[in-house]
Amino acid sequence: MSADSIQYRIVPSDPAGHVFTVECTVTTPDPAGQVFFMPAWIPGSYMIRDFARNVVQVWASCQGREVPVHRADKSSWRCTPVNGPLALRYEVYAFDLSVRAAYLDAERGFFNGTSVFMLPRGQESTACIVEIAAPDSSVATAWRVATTLPRAEASPWGFGTYCADCYDTLVDHPVEMGSFEIVEFEAGGIPHELVLSGRQRADKARIASDLAKVCAEHIALFQDVAPMERYQFLTLVVGEGYGGLEHRDSSSLICSRNDLPTTSDRGISEGYREFLGLCSHEYFHAWNVKRIKPAAFSPYKLEAESYTRLLWVFEGITSYYDDLALRRCGLIDRASYLELLGRTATRVRRGAGRLKQSVADSSFDAWTKFYRQDENAPNAIVSYYAKGALIALALDLELRIQSKGRCSLDHVMRALWARYGRRGIGLPEDGMEQVVAEVSGREMTDFLRRAVHGVGDLELSGRLADFGICLKLRAASGPDDKGGTPGDGRAPRPVLGVRSRPVPQGAEIVNVFEGGAAHRAGLSANDVVVAVDGLRVSGADLHERVARLPAGEAVSVYAFRRDQLKRFTLEPQLPALDTVYFEIASNPNSAVAARRDAWFGVVDDRD
Ligand code: ZN
Repeated sequence: MSADSIQYRIVPSDPAGHVFTVECTVTTPDPAGQVFFMPAWIPGSYMIRDFARNVVQVWASCQGREVPVHRADKSSWRCTPVNGPLALRYEVYAFDLSVRAAYLDAERGFFNGTSVFMLPRGQESTACIVEIAAPDSSVATAWRVATTLPRAEASPWGFGTYCADCYDTLVDHPVEMGSFEIVEFEAGGIPHELVLSGRQRADKARIASDLAKVCAEHIALFQDVAPMERYQFLTLVVGEGYGGLEHRDSSSLICSRNDLPTTSDRGISEGYREFLGLCSHEYFHAWNVKRIKPAAFSPYKLEAESYTRLLWVFEGITSYYDDLALRRCGLIDRASYLELLGRTATRVRRGAGRLKQSVADSSFDAWTKFYRQDENAPNAIVSYYAKGALIALALDLELRIQSKGRCSLDHVMRALWARYGRRGIGLPEDGMEQVVAEVSGREMTDFLRRAVHGVGDLELSGRLADFGICLKLRAASGPDDKGGTPGDGRAPRPVLGVRSRPVPQGAEIVNVFEGGAAHRAGLSANDVVVAVDGLRVSGADLHERVARLPAGEAVSVYAFRRDQLKRFTLEPQLPALDTVYFEIASNPNSAVAARRDAWFGVVDDRD
């Protein structure tokens, strides 16, 4: 590192008050007055968060003399021109337990660079050195540091200096500090580490062995050396929580304690399957979005929204491969995989938003719609994750059929990697169509235009039949039915067409589904239902109460809208066939069986 590096120092200065103190020193500041900028968003989470709002106090100095510093805009500060090295010192309030920002208390600290490191404008390409300082010894003596930032003078897992070749690198390596546990494993010849913060008594050896299989599966898919020298899963274990954010050499995860297996557990619980799926998802992102990335993110512009219609490629295809990899590496059986796929298809089919918004538009509007969902979201938005995963499935199957098994989505991913990811070139907005055509030797433009820019349901039944899989539709058996299985076999019972939650006075409506009985009756989100058919409703039993009514027969419903008691006339309806599950043909012919095996793995001993 040259003497001209940007020098950062971050200190967990007030764990009880959740405050980091950060210094940023620039050797040759802008002679017109140096501007320091804090990002407005973090890559991977497409919402303006204005991280500068957590900056509490700012001071600047040059060779011991105070330098006046003023706000330039909501994200920037400007210093008076100086001759000589300029040091900016500021405090950052860090009390966000999610994977997207920063957190500090007396037990642990965590930060993304986008929440704590200001960029000296004009020095985007300058190398950075960061000293991560230990908290006061009265707080912690056993704390260590976990990050994939390259070490400069820090010892392994130690406080001290780390480095980055530029600001973009600096902020793409989150840092955890505290007394965590480390589990090491290898995949594809690369050292991997699972770092577990928070209280847990999980079977670490088993998780490491399972994650090694998932990681090896993804590395093998791209048929190239893994693009990272080391990889870390930074995992915070909490009572109840779920979340993940991808980075180039690591991911930040939050999981529920009970989702992790203990040494007495056998098999894969639903929670553990979800945890493995989350790890698989974020790991696949190391290729698909961190390296194969939209041109709009090359480089990231962190001042304002960066628009792309391609989030369905980066989140949808990643959502397709996250569960498929669990199946292909043998961690879950076919029935379990098809259950997950059925749940994805169910999520898409249950929202009227799928009839109004394309995944291209959902990608473009992520900043104001998908990331800012309100009570009307199911009626207005389609998820570029869930429908994107179904498009990936349809495209994969289509390519396999058309090419008689010579070509698949795997080939498309390898081509995206070779042409864009490995070479550091951004994927243009029409790049996916081009690569698909090139790899398959066929024009798939019509298929992609309909799937990506069109609305409504994809045609999946016919394609799946060629692989010996039958798509089935049924009614939901109750509010907790996520789909993916044949259900309980009961005859469909009437529904209200809402999602609700229990409150002390009754049941509060969270979403009203378009065209459902509640919508027709005039009920609204935030209404608190207190009585149905002349009987009081006690919170959790709203759905069961309606299920016992005769379909189509008018009953009265009383609900509070704010403080006003209102009466509605409701005709309970039989539920729509909006729940998807898949059945495997038991005796497919050999061609069908071969296609199916090539797609999601050969029969294993659990099948
Ligand atoms: Zn993702």
